[in-house]
Amino acid sequence: MVSVCDLSPAYIRAIAPYLPGKPTSELERELGLTHIVKLASNENPLGPSPLALERMALALESLALYPDGNGYDLRAAIAKKFHLSMDAIVLGNGSNDILEMAARAFLSPGASAVYAQHAFAVYPLATQATGARGIEVPARAFGSDLEAMVKAIEPCTRVLFIANPNNPTGTFIPGDALLAAFKAIPPSVLIVLDEAYTEYLGPEDRYQAFDWLTQFPNLLISRTFSKAYGLAGLRVGFGVANPELVGLLNRVRAPFNVNTLALVGAEAALSDEDYLARSVALNTLGMAQITEGLNALGLDWIPSRGNFLSFKVGQGMAIYQALLKAGVIVRPIANYGLPEWLRVSIGLARDNAFFLEALKTALVSHG
Ligand SMILES: *Cc1c(COP(=O)(O)O)cnc(C)c1O
Repeated sequence: MVSVCDLSPAYIRAIAPYLPGKPTSELERELGLTHIVKLASNENPLGPSPLALERMALALESLALYPDGNGYDLRAAIAKKFHLSMDAIVLGNGSNDILEMAARAFLSPGASAVYAQHAFAVYPLATQATGARGIEVPARAFGSDLEAMVKAIEPCTRVLFIANPNNPTGTFIPGDALLAAFKAIPPSVLIVLDEAYTEYLGPEDRYQAFDWLTQFPNLLISRTFSKAYGLAGLRVGFGVANPELVGLLNRVRAPFNVNTLALVGAEAALSDEDYLARSVALNTLGMAQITEGLNALGLDWIPSRGNFLSFKVGQGMAIYQALLKAGVIVRPIANYGLPEWLRVSIGLARDNAFFLEALKTALVSHG
């Protein structure tokens, strides 16, 4: 008897599902721990912006109604803040949704997408789901080797994905290098520039990719409210591109993909400059605390421009498990081709300290 599942396309059945960070509630159930520190998913340790919470509470009354399927108010707020035209903005259920829309709109069996080794896991996933082929380009010093990526483009290549900074390595490409590489990419290739962590960049690293849109009709920039804006559970992000490209993405966008609470919560978070500044400042301090702690333990780490850090422990899975038993959830990144490494998200000072203590103990018993 044929199972209906056997009839799913081979390229779908071959997909290895995305591995999310372990939820706190799951570890609680498994080990009965009461104090758990989750530093596994690059979430904002400050919790959501108070302004966002306030606005969402007011919106609860309207939940019997469908959301605004065009997200007018949120797009208007984004347009105003970043000096963009409203029709250059597409909203997503998280920026993950934007990445998937890009793949759906441009990839199909016979096409290919280029991305770097150790790049964000969603690029291969979104590519495979369309039946297109992924071209993984070896990294250079853990980061994206842009020149090699450009060279890897084939006539059938339709999308090039690049995260800046990248997750899980935290590596960064300066704006001028990015711009130079974009000039060498054929206009027939959609460039997806994933800026999920751009808010954490220091003034010396800032660049303004939105200014490049007129020059590159094949450029799509994605941003998220999940990281520095502290709304990962709400699922909202956006893409910015020329209006014709946005029109294409809207064709594959699910109706009402961004819910009512997400629309108002994101709009409020966008206006909460104080919250954003506090988030970034806290991250800078926490990053220093954790890098100093790792240095004291004699561990290697990859300099990161994000709100997370990857560090080398040797036996990644064993140390990950030992940390779990101590009530600390970090992220194994063997699935990113880095089995000897773990990734930790930057948390509150006391949580960072708890992590460093647990790590010290774990290393002693597995050393
Ligand atoms: C976290 C992350 C995203 C954003 O995910 P959302 O779907 O917006 O929550 C996108 N790209 C990278 C590189 C990330 O690390």
